[in-house]
Amino acid sequence: HHQNGWHKNHVRVAVVGGGLVGSMISCFLAKRGYQVDLYEMRNDPRKSEHVVGKSINLALSERGRSALRSLGLEKEIIEKYSIKMYSRMIHDLNGRKRIIPYGTRPDQYILSVSRRFLNELLLSKAEKYENVHIHFDHKLLQANLKQGHLTFQAMIDNDINIDDNIFNDKHEKQQSPHHPKQVESYSDIILGCDGAYSAVRRHMIKLLLLDYSQKYIEHGYLELCIPPTKSGDYAMEPNHLHIWPRGDFMMIALPNLDRSFTVTLFMQFKIFEELTDQTKLLNFFQKYFPDSIPLLTKDGLIQTFFSTKPSPLISIKCKPYNYEDKVLLMGDAAHAMVPFYGQGMNCGFEDCIVLDELLDKHGNDKLDSVLDIFTEKRVDNCHAIIDLAMYNYVEMRDLVNKRSFIIRKTFDNMMHRLFPTIWTPLYSMVTFSRTPYHRCIQDKRWQDEMIDRILKFFLILFGLLMFLIAAKLFDSNPTLKTRPN
Ligand code: FAD
Repeated sequence: HHQNGWHKNHVRVAVVGGGLVGSMISCFLAKRGYQVDLYEMRNDPRKSEHVVGKSINLALSERGRSALRSLGLEKEIIEKYSIKMYSRMIHDLNGRKRIIPYGTRPDQYILSVSRRFLNELLLSKAEKYENVHIHFDHKLLQANLKQGHLTFQAMIDNDINIDDNIFNDKHEKQQSPHHPKQVESYSDIILGCDGAYSAVRRHMIKLLLLDYSQKYIEHGYLELCIPPTKSGDYAMEPNHLHIWPRGDFMMIALPNLDRSFTVTLFMQFKIFEELTDQTKLLNFFQKYFPDSIPLLTKDGLIQTFFSTKPSPLISIKCKPYNYEDKVLLMGDAAHAMVPFYGQGMNCGFEDCIVLDELLDKHGNDKLDSVLDIFTEKRVDNCHAIIDLAMYNYVEMRDLVNKRSFIIRKTFDNMMHRLFPTIWTPLYSMVTFSRTPYHRCIQDKRWQDEMIDRILKFFLILFGLLMFLIAAKLFDSNPTLKTRPN
């Protein structure tokens, strides 16, 4: 053991995918002394001007924050690199706005962070450990999971200092830059953090009895931008998550540090397809999102809308997450969900803490033996949040407009104030605590039952009262007693 508790561990871990979860778990394992090789198909985002990919900013909440806290990164992110969002700001058809708070306390907010920034921060953190080697431009092609053998297609850039374990052939290095090559690697444990379309998972499906289901929803999403005003300010109130709920579809906007907003339009693909020209697009926006047009600007809207294609949204459940003591799926590779609870990344980050806690409990070098337990601890919870996210798909675009939703929210908050330890609204449990997702659903069912009982109780009380009043009236009014013959 070193003085700071770090000890060298000779177990080699291959992390496939250097997105949010892959770069984070590399940090956690490096801290424990594992030899980590991180393979990422894209090039280094820190070196490229523009990074293609999904959603520019994300809502970060407690589960994700607690993982970042463990790595000592939380404070910096809250103070410098994120924007607090305290409530939903609902925009109605007439441009009127109203607020529905996220929490019940002033210190409860979610954070808007840039995906790229977060990814770069985690990659840089991982790189600081001498036992982490990051291999960009390495795409997993083939896997023999039983033997821990992976084959990558690598775009070799001669300028980059390449890990000598793999490229010890000097001749290879002298060839022209950026040529493809197959690279082999052997490791003791493989972590599949390669996202919703995971290649590691595809190989696992072939190997074991893996339950797998996926669902594409009818809606796709497309990102637009609200730039800062001429005076360089935010064009809308920055400390909210703006929502334009329109029943069958919706638009949302999250603030960025550069005072712009990233706007996401979620809509059925068939409606996207109907908006074939500028007039149709502007008419559509005039009808459903009129207050957003001056903010997006007509030119900006037209330009962005027609230069990008809507992307699909997929929800994936599988079980188990591990193959024996060899392979583990984490993050979207294990549980992709629709983005309507803002929990995909948070849940993936929580995977990292759960694994870390298991190593705390079972021993620093027991990664292989906790993979089974990880599946056991995680599957039901991840399935629960996948279901909740799908439910919120309706809540966000439609139910927030309904009076019953507002009444329920008000009632929930009131109950929470009265009984803070036993009554926490579902959204708060999911967002502001680490209550296992599965328990969040159970608690919500219990709350629904209680509400049902309370309502029934009051109904009966009301009925009884009416009966008593009627009886009293009947008693005191003699004309009611004697019926005419
Ligand atoms: P990814 O981020 O997908 O990373 C996977 C990585 O693996 C990528 O870098 C990819 O290049 C690499 N890779 C893939 N295949 C290979 C291969 N064969 N070989 C090598 N590398 C490979 N979550 C939230 O918590 N809050 C939000 O507000 C939120 N908003 C969202 C909005 C939208 C529109 C979408 C689509 C998602 C949103 N999410 C949100 C979910 C979040 O984006 C994901 O849960 C998160 O990115 C998962 O991280 P990951 O590392 O598991 O996967």
